[in-house]
Amino acid sequence: MKNILHLTLLFILIGFYQYLSGQQKWAVAIHGGAGNFTKADISDETEKLYKDKLNEALDKGKEILSKGGSSLDAVEEVIKILEDSPLFNAGKGAVFTHDGKNEMDASIMDGKTLKAGAVAGVGDIKNPISAARLVMTKSEHVLLTGKGASKFAKEQGLEIVDSSYFYTKERWEQLQKILKKEKENKKGTVGCVALDINGNLAAGTSTGGMTNKKYGRVGDSPIIGAGTYANNNTCAVSCTGHGEFFIRNVVAYDISALMEYKNMSLRNAADYAILNKMTKLGGTGGIIAVDSKGNMAVSFNTTGMYRALQSSDGAREISVFK
Ligand code: ASP
Repeated sequence: MKNILHLTLLFILIGFYQYLSGQQKWAVAIHGGAGNFTKADISDETEKLYKDKLNEALDKGKEILSKGGSSLDAVEEVIKILEDSPLFNAGKGAVFTHDGKNEMDASIMDGKTLKAGAVAGVGDIKNPISAARLVMTKSEHVLLTGKGASKFAKEQGLEIVDSSYFYTKERWEQLQKILKKEKENKKGTVGCVALDINGNLAAGTSTGGMTNKKYGRVGDSPIIGAGTYANNNTCAVSCTGHGEFFIRNVVAYDISALMEYKNMSLRNAADYAILNKMTKLGGTGGIIAVDSKGNMAVSFNTTGMYRALQSSDGAREISVFK
């Protein structure tokens, strides 16, 4: 009896300690792509459409995390909402390659185990982010590409669709403009980072890549450490922008490493990686990130970035421009 009492007291104390040390805190941040667009490029109606969708995705993340769900579930479910929307360059609405196809990339990472999964160059998986998660949990590999990735997704029971499902008129016209050498704003990759009440971080990113891409080009989004990274000791990061620069700068891991080895705060590490290193190299884009204490950071060197943030403190932000 005495032992049971002692044990109960111990559990209460652990719970109280966790509460005091802030482990009950959750946070979620979402991006819908960065680009050099300004208020003049987007009508009020279009801006509202984007904000409404970001709101819906943010609510999903909030619902999962506030009920004690895992950061991985939050990241996958939030990204699925954005992949299913034709507004973003991921899933339905993905941009077209030079050859007029949709070749999508996605990745996800678990900050607790440092396990990760990704798919690249897939053209018939309805939700590439779910395929990435299954690569992480149900395969011995980290990155599967093209037909092999589709075969795996099918075996795992994911929804496979005809490639015409991903077609949207806007993205098709975007390709035609670029083929005619007219300037186009690239935007719309999606990403999500989350901290759950157990202190676990997760990050995910999903994209159609860049309009007019050729020769099986793969960007940063499915590359762990470049476009996506999560580590419970530091932070979770999802990137968007000109992928080649994010790969060359290993941006997502760089932010984590700056925190780990240089003791930088999330804010300083993110700004250093984007506003200093990436900008000097000539790259454009941005990141969303959350650290193990629930601090969130957004950093971008473009004029716009679709983003939405919410934490258990009640802070909520949805914005598009600088
Ligand atoms: N980073 C993506 C890529 O290069 C594109 C984007 O985020 O807009 O494939």
